[in-house]
Amino acid sequence: MSKQDHLKTIEGEVKACRKCDLWKSRKNPVAGEGNSDAAVMFIGEAPGYWEDVRGRPFVGAAGKLLDEMLLGIGLSRSEVYIANILKCRPPDNRDPLPFEVEACTPFLDRQIQIIEPRLIVPLGRHSTSYILSKAGLKEVEGITRLRGKVYAVDVLGLRVFVIPTYHPAAALYNAKYRDGLEGDFQLLGLELEKHR
Ligand code: URA
Ligand code: SF4
Repeated sequence: MSKQDHLKTIEGEVKACRKCDLWKSRKNPVAGEGNSDAAVMFIGEAPGYWEDVRGRPFVGAAGKLLDEMLLGIGLSRSEVYIANILKCRPPDNRDPLPFEVEACTPFLDRQIQIIEPRLIVPLGRHSTSYILSKAGLKEVEGITRLRGKVYAVDVLGLRVFVIPTYHPAAALYNAKYRDGLEGDFQLLGLELEKHR
């Protein structure tokens, strides 16, 4: 089976999943999308209103900002892969609960293992803390302290570079976060140059 086929299998499993209660209130699951051979994988938190309506990741206002950031370093959506920690929208966009993260992240882990990205960019504190704890970093501090750096780590047996950054939704309303997000994308652009 090709990488694409494996990703399709996960999509089907996500559609049928009832491992936590979020399937009850969602309109559509959002498994993730993009290039199955992507060098860069972005990991958000969970679908929001528009993602839930459309079944696609980052298609609302935060998604627009993400697209802008990608364009700024010469990347298009079709070159990258975008997924979330949770595949179903939490009611009122509340934070993911620990048991929801536990129930859902086997899907994300498998996506990472299939795609084998060289770079992982967790967006926001939830996905940063998930990815860095997978890398064995116990003391996961706030996102402001963690961002702005490249971490060479092992995640699920893969040697990857992790570049944590702010969630684009936070950067929409805060100029300081937006500057940070832009700086981290510059860092990502430089890293990508090295690995091309
Ligand atoms: N916020 C996220 O974390 N993920 C999405 O897909 C959209 C908004
Ligand atoms: Fe399943 Fe994840 Fe949806 Fe919960 S959020 S029902 S674990 S796909």
